[in-house]
Amino acid sequence: MDSIIEDVNRILENRRIRSEIQSREKTDRIMEEYPAIRRIEDEIDQLEKERMTLSIRGERSEELEMRLRETREKKQHVMEECHITPEDFLPKPFCRICGDTGFVRKSGSDGKESMTLCGCVRSMLAPLMLRRSGVGRYPEYSFEKGAKDFYADSPTIAAVYDRLRILAGKEMVPNIVFYGCPGKGKTFLAVSVARQYALQGRSSLVMRLPDFQELAMEHRKALQAFYLAPQKERDIEERFAYLSEADLLVLDDLGVEPRTANHEADLLSLMDKRLLSGKVTIITTNYDMDSLRQRYGSRFFDRIDRSYKRICFREEKKA
Ligand SMILES: [Zn+2]
Repeated sequence: MDSIIEDVNRILENRRIRSEIQSREKTDRIMEEYPAIRRIEDEIDQLEKERMTLSIRGERSEELEMRLRETREKKQHVMEECHITPEDFLPKPFCRICGDTGFVRKSGSDGKESMTLCGCVRSMLAPLMLRRSGVGRYPEYSFEKGAKDFYADSPTIAAVYDRLRILAGKEMVPNIVFYGCPGKGKTFLAVSVARQYALQGRSSLVMRLPDFQELAMEHRKALQAFYLAPQKERDIEERFAYLSEADLLVLDDLGVEPRTANHEADLLSLMDKRLLSGKVTIITTNYDMDSLRQRYGSRFFDRIDRSYKRICFREEKKA
């Protein structure tokens, strides 16, 4: 991950350097083509130097100030005659939106301004985010492919689908549990959201519960191991950390994993970490709420109750 951030930073820096060089070259060309501008520019330089010398001595000359103003006005006049604007001398960034800084200002609904990643950086990050997200296992699961037919028999879920599609585009999806009977498109919708986040350059991850259980177990073993190959240790550490760090996590098929000693504690700790850092989690399960409470206990259920929206996927009777 860090190496990617370094790559992105290097690309942005190269873009800034390139536009700076291009701007200098363009200025040189203009000066060559219009010697009158160069002459007047030299004159201004000279006057500014004189002003600097005076100001070091603590002096100031009204006459010099006036000449400087007049010369600047003359320059403006000459430039207009040559059809040159001040913008012609400014660097032209590769990305006009962020000026190759990688960030843009965004004002939130509360009126507060914050910095957010520019679209140019997001598109650089998207291929990596897609690779890391694990959505590759579900090539057909995406908003782009559309799912109107999929939910044709379920108007309620079709409405949820439309709503989540918009929220995913704005990266404002809340914590949700999709529950109810199998084969109703819970995973489809959850993966589509994860894919949308990745396409927008945000980190997301889809993990089935048995895979989470195994990773948590491997991580615990690695912590207790007397010796582990450094590369392997790093790999496990990185994969485990991504569970908490990804902007959006889909925990798919809660309840199919076998019961083990540490599983509930692992799950609770992951959920708490994510809630604390404001990261979004989508859980899918074939269990209903009562069965979830029974199997995972009241502490787990308390999190769901307080911080998750619940959406039931079930047969809908046609009107
Ligand atoms: Zn940009």
